[in-house]
Amino acid sequence: MTDNAVIVGAGVIGLATAHRLAQDGLAVTVVDAAGGGAAGASVHNAGWIVPIMSTPVPAPGMLGQAFRWMAHRDSPLYVRPSPRPEHVRFMINMLRHCNPRAFASGVEALTSLNERTLQLFDEYEKDGIRFEQHRVGQLLVFTTRHTMEEYRAATAPMERIGHTAAPLTGDELRDLEPALSRQVLTGLHCPQERHVDPASLVRGLEDRCRELGVRFLHGSPVTGIRSRGRSVTSVLAGGEEVTGDLFVLAAGVHTGSLSRLAGRPLPIRPGKGYGFDDTSGSVTLRHSVYLGEAKVAVTPLSDRLRFAGTMEFGSSDATIDPHRLRGIARSAHTYLPDFPPESQPWGWTGLRPMTPDGLPVIGPLPGKDNMLVASGHSMLGVTLAPVTADIISAEISGGRQRADTARTALPFSPQRFIPRRGRTTADG
Ligand SMILES: Cc1cc2nc3c(=O)[nH]c(=O)nc-3n(C[C@H](O)[C@H](O)[C@H](O)COP(=O)(O)OP(=O)(O)OC[C@H]3O[C@@H](n4cnc5c(N)ncnc54)[C@H](O)[C@@H]3O)c2cc1C
Repeated sequence: MTDNAVIVGAGVIGLATAHRLAQDGLAVTVVDAAGGGAAGASVHNAGWIVPIMSTPVPAPGMLGQAFRWMAHRDSPLYVRPSPRPEHVRFMINMLRHCNPRAFASGVEALTSLNERTLQLFDEYEKDGIRFEQHRVGQLLVFTTRHTMEEYRAATAPMERIGHTAAPLTGDELRDLEPALSRQVLTGLHCPQERHVDPASLVRGLEDRCRELGVRFLHGSPVTGIRSRGRSVTSVLAGGEEVTGDLFVLAAGVHTGSLSRLAGRPLPIRPGKGYGFDDTSGSVTLRHSVYLGEAKVAVTPLSDRLRFAGTMEFGSSDATIDPHRLRGIARSAHTYLPDFPPESQPWGWTGLRPMTPDGLPVIGPLPGKDNMLVASGHSMLGVTLAPVTADIISAEISGGRQRADTARTALPFSPQRFIPRRGRTTADG
């Protein structure tokens, strides 16, 4: 008999997982709170496929910088003051991971996870998924030499998986991208990196899932999880009881509250990002470009230039703070002088699912034998979607494939967030 898999969340992670499990021959149902088609972070992001950026967000000095910027409403990194205990706990926990040892082991884990990323995106095209993908490489550009050197050191570990960052002078960068200003002194060229139109990827995955027979229940927020002992039997979604043999929680920033409903709360909290799309044609780029000191991503898509940036902790809704958008626009003008800083582009926000150690949460939820988690991908959810689906597939199918991926997947196990006293012998 075919197993029924129920996936909660139709973002890029839930859809990639649905696609993979449907390819494996499972009968898949995807349940999503939103009315139709994914919204949220999976559509509102920079669309970079960047194994070269296999670095966890908590880095030495990172939160110190965020606290210093607290008075600046247009800074790229911001911790909103909030007395909510879960926010305070999360930030303290993240602070504990802002040290060189935790950072280095996070880099190692993420780099291994990204080893097959490009191959998996190639396989998407071969499977007939239609989406806008650009294989043109990426430029990281800087107005100061020391920031370039910091990034150069951070990208060195990714050489072992074939992703390189070659230093270039300002003039060499302007030869590649004439729109860059004279203030750009130096940069890094990462020829293997790619970018996609994220909305087209989400659409393409959903279309292909439908072709493979996946059932979608949009407009159906999950509000309850029913279990018999260690086995989940159904989720309550928009008033309907959806039964299944296997369940995957892939609900982005809401995965934390859903795991609480399952009795094992995971620390997944939002890191809010901002962006806007410029269709004026004032600037033309070929590569995706990272404006280093400003921490702004610029992505050339077929019909627009997308600007994205900001990491804001402590806010959990989609409201737009115009100061943040203006901050992105103003800093972009320094690097791309033809971009008008006072233009009022259409702005958007996206909530990145963050974890205190900066690593995704992928694998079985302790305490439940048939529930898995695929979330917490922070700044890399698009990049890591296909490999996440691979790991979930291997966990379900077991056997040799599982043994092969088990070592790569170990640092991402949800188990790391379950206090020892909350585990049972069956949880390992
Ligand atoms: C500004 C910005 C730039 C970024 N740039 C990049 C980039 O260049 N490259 C990259 O790899 N990543 C990037 N990211 C990160 C990436 O966008 C995220 O990691 C990724 O989209 C997370 O996907 P997800 O499917 O886990 O979550 P989401 O996209 O949030 O999807 C979760 C889904 O779950 C549904 N849901 C929530 N609660 C429930 C419920 N109770 N019941 C049913 N359904 C529910 C939601 O409706 C939603 O559709 C960026 C993010 C931002 C904000």
